[in-house]
Amino acid sequence: MFVSTLKTSLNKIINILTFTDLPIRRKFILFSAGTLFWIVVTSAIGFITLFHLSTESKKLVDIIEPQQKVVNSVIRKLAEVSITVNQLFLLENKEAARDNFHKAKRSIEECHSYLILLRNGGFIKGYAQYGDQSMEEFPVSPLTGAEKKTFIEDVLVKIVKLENLLSEIGVAKESNRTDPVSLREKLSEFDALMQSMLLTLNKSAISLSQEGGNISHSIKRDFKTALILILLTFFIGASLSIIFGVLISVNLVKPINAIVSNFRSFSSQHDIAKEIKVPSKDEIGTLALEYNKFINMIESMISFKKIIEEDETVEDVYLRLGNLLTTELGLHNCTIYEISTYKNTIKPVYPPDPVFSDLSCDMDVLLNCDLCRVKRTGHTISSKEHKDICKFFRREKGDVHICIPVFVSGKVGGVVQFVFDKNEASSAELKEKIQRTMQYISEAQPVMESKRLMRAFKESSIKDALTGLYNRRFIEETSTSLISGVQRRKTTLGLLMCDLDFFKEVNDKYGHDIGDTVLKETAHVIKKTVRDSDIVVRFGGEEFLVLLLDIQPEASFDIANKIRAAVEQTKFHVPGGFISKTISIGISEFPHDTQTIWEAIKFADVALYQAKDNGRNRVVRFTSSMWTEERY
Ligand code: GH3
Ligand code: MG
Ligand code: MG
Repeated sequence: MFVSTLKTSLNKIINILTFTDLPIRRKFILFSAGTLFWIVVTSAIGFITLFHLSTESKKLVDIIEPQQKVVNSVIRKLAEVSITVNQLFLLENKEAARDNFHKAKRSIEECHSYLILLRNGGFIKGYAQYGDQSMEEFPVSPLTGAEKKTFIEDVLVKIVKLENLLSEIGVAKESNRTDPVSLREKLSEFDALMQSMLLTLNKSAISLSQEGGNISHSIKRDFKTALILILLTFFIGASLSIIFGVLISVNLVKPINAIVSNFRSFSSQHDIAKEIKVPSKDEIGTLALEYNKFINMIESMISFKKIIEEDETVEDVYLRLGNLLTTELGLHNCTIYEISTYKNTIKPVYPPDPVFSDLSCDMDVLLNCDLCRVKRTGHTISSKEHKDICKFFRREKGDVHICIPVFVSGKVGGVVQFVFDKNEASSAELKEKIQRTMQYISEAQPVMESKRLMRAFKESSIKDALTGLYNRRFIEETSTSLISGVQRRKTTLGLLMCDLDFFKEVNDKYGHDIGDTVLKETAHVIKKTVRDSDIVVRFGGEEFLVLLLDIQPEASFDIANKIRAAVEQTKFHVPGGFISKTISIGISEFPHDTQTIWEAIKFADVALYQAKDNGRNRVVRFTSSMWTEERY
């Protein structure tokens, strides 16, 4: 339980992170944006580091190093000055002493100017012209930091003193009257001051070198950190790009592969392909969804076709198709019509037992199928696009009808009709439903065709072509079920064997064709006289057998008499006028007279002979005395 919840949550998170439900274009845009982000982050770290390192290096090269150079130069110069001044003290030669003095003075002045540069900042130039120490031209920044500032101020005060002392030494050396002791004192004072200055300057040099060292150290450290950061972001970015790239591509490829392999197995093994998992809500998800819909449709088509193929009659197929359209597709107001080109009629076959007043087609069309536009054109017609397309459609204004042809043996053999009210007709899914209906119809067409052919064949073999009544073969085929039904219901079956009297005369007088019309008319009269549920059979040439189902015992006599009277009263049309004919009828009843149907037929025939013998145009009920043989 916990594991499955964890798994679902994890899948959900992965789906969000891999943009599973986003459209493919947006997926790739976001993926590129993500990759770009990491490239930008990596580059930004690189740029920031470079900028930082260059600033630090600049500080080192442009500020610290020049300052160090200047301080060191001042230290060196002052040390030289110290030597020069001590030499000056020892020199006896006035000229040489004077040179030394000037040399020392110039050096101190130069040191003074350098120290001012160190305090205020400025540009060192032309230094090379003094002596052999060459120094390129470069800018110097003022010393920063309280300690160094104090140092420089201190040194500046001392150098002024040093200058004064040097002047005094110079003057004293020039003058012959100077006391050597006082000169020595001045020199000592000069040396002491010099030492103090050198000490302070050394401290400054050390401080500068420490500062430089710190900067170098920080450059090294920052470079290392930046390198690690760059490598880390690059690694994270590259890993994420690879992971998401793989996940996104798997999400894209997996369902496509499933569809491809399903199609492959479908085409190679004729297997109904299985539904595939809908992995996302993007285009691939839509593809999977549509694929599943397609597979379901195919499956339902195949199973529909299989079932209707196994149905016994075309009426069963109509019923199944109608039920499928109304229940599964929700096309409630559906009527299926069957066209009989032979009779030129169009008859509703679904829903079963239709109420004629409820039909949308005018009676004229039902009686003359040529008036039906679908039958005439073979096209689907819809009053949605073209109002009043069919003038025989009789429904309320605003109702829309769509009629789809059903082709049987290359001709329109039926029509599937839908009627919608305005709102239904404008619904978005109607078009799709009609499309599917057409697919179902096209699947059902060959089955309907074969079932209709079978029905026609069966009817032709059990029906008499002249009168349209059942023939003797029908009795042979149905007698068993007929008898078992009567026995189960414990009712009586009346058998009337009817034979036209002197029928031969009609043939002889008017010819065989007129004889045929008389037979047809007689069949019609008999059929009309009995109930629809009774069975009228043309048993022989001008002999008719009527099977009266579920009658009261001995009720057959009255019915037979009704037939006899009806025939007697019928005026048969012949060239030059009308003739009347009579009919004789023999009756037997099952199971009162016998236990087998064929014996009952025989007994009815025996009674018929009796009727003939007794003068014709009469009804005779079989009695056991009429049959003396043991078995017929
Ligand atoms: P009865 O009163 O004794 O029955 O006299 P009938 O002339 O009706 O009887 P019969 O058996 O002598 O003649 C029957 C005639 O029916 C003979 C045959 O030519 C005619 N017949 C049988 N089948 C057909 C048919 O399909 N069409 C026509 N026109 N005549 C037929
Ligand atoms: Mg006859
Ligand atoms: Mg006869």
